[in-house]
Amino acid sequence: MAKEDFYKLLGVDRNASDAEIKKSYRSKAMKFHPDRNKDNPVEAEAKFKQIKEAYEVLSDPKKRSAYDQFGHAGVDPSMGGGRGAGGFGGFGAGESFSDIFGDIFGGGGRQQRSNVQRGSDLRYNLELSLEEAVFGTDAKIRVPVLVACGVCNGSGAKKGSSPVICSTCHGHGQVRMQQGFFSVQQTCPTCRGSGQQIKDPCGSCHGQGRVQENKTLSAKIPAGVDTGDRIRLAGEGEAGEHGGPAGDLYVQVQVKDHEIFTRDGANLYCEVPISFPTACLGGELEVPTLNGKVLLKIPAETQTGKLFRLRGKGVKPVRGGPVGDLLCKVQVETPVHLTKEQKILVEQLNESLSGGGKHHSPQESSWTDGVKSFFDKLTG
Ligand SMILES: [Zn+2]
Ligand SMILES: [Zn+2]
Repeated sequence: MAKEDFYKLLGVDRNASDAEIKKSYRSKAMKFHPDRNKDNPVEAEAKFKQIKEAYEVLSDPKKRSAYDQFGHAGVDPSMGGGRGAGGFGGFGAGESFSDIFGDIFGGGGRQQRSNVQRGSDLRYNLELSLEEAVFGTDAKIRVPVLVACGVCNGSGAKKGSSPVICSTCHGHGQVRMQQGFFSVQQTCPTCRGSGQQIKDPCGSCHGQGRVQENKTLSAKIPAGVDTGDRIRLAGEGEAGEHGGPAGDLYVQVQVKDHEIFTRDGANLYCEVPISFPTACLGGELEVPTLNGKVLLKIPAETQTGKLFRLRGKGVKPVRGGPVGDLLCKVQVETPVHLTKEQKILVEQLNESLSGGGKHHSPQESSWTDGVKSFFDKLTG
């Protein structure tokens, strides 16, 4: 189940004004009020949460523009980008429906039945190639999840039977224990707080109400993600207990090493070998980028280790900001497998460079001076 479009959820079009969004939100929120959805409270709650989340994003100009640009990934609090920007925090595991209604309908939220519990969040480690991370991808991920048992519809009771009220706590889920002068309230040991007992458990889930299944999800990975980024798939976590809402699935991104490029934030680095004659005389060189090859101009008398910056050939960060650069570090190669003739030519070159009184080795002369002063200090 992919996350539904926020505009669709609120029933407005993409260029709706703030007032239209607010109006539509109010009417949708009323529609999914628990008093009007007594026969379907769980679904109404899930829908209400989605509507609230959509409104929180679309009513904030900053989040709305991030959402327009990047979709859910742009405003997902788990991606870090939305964090701190106005405290958009999604729904914590412990937040109940009544908390949410409390702040709109003036408190006095309804007491939720204690045995309905939200499912756990899950984490999935997703390995991506550098190209997939830079350009985005549709990842198919297979996750083992606990889903509501299809045989008993999540009740845990055998088909045809239903759970009965717990005889120990009479459905309260809590029991009072007398300890000396004090009376202490405890979770009922018989039903473990659910208030119900299953006399005749479902054979398929052994009374748990949930079964483990593998499901394949399709996760839209936005362009520019990097190792450590998390993408939240709302409602794709574990099924809730006794018909509670499902948890979320967090896809944790891990980018694999690339054979040519190393990434540092928005920048990419690579090493490019160049020949000795090219380093001396200059020339043009084909270098790889993630979008194909480009020509790099090598000026005459280039030293090994020099960095060349190709602007805009790096990564466009997922949270916005300028596109990074590609930094190419050239490595001058010493020729190998020299023939007799070539050796003679190198000797001639060496003689020519040693004569004439000019400095042809910029590093060497300063290095020699350094070594000389080092020894002078030792002996002096
Ligand atoms: Zn079952
Ligand atoms: Zn009980």
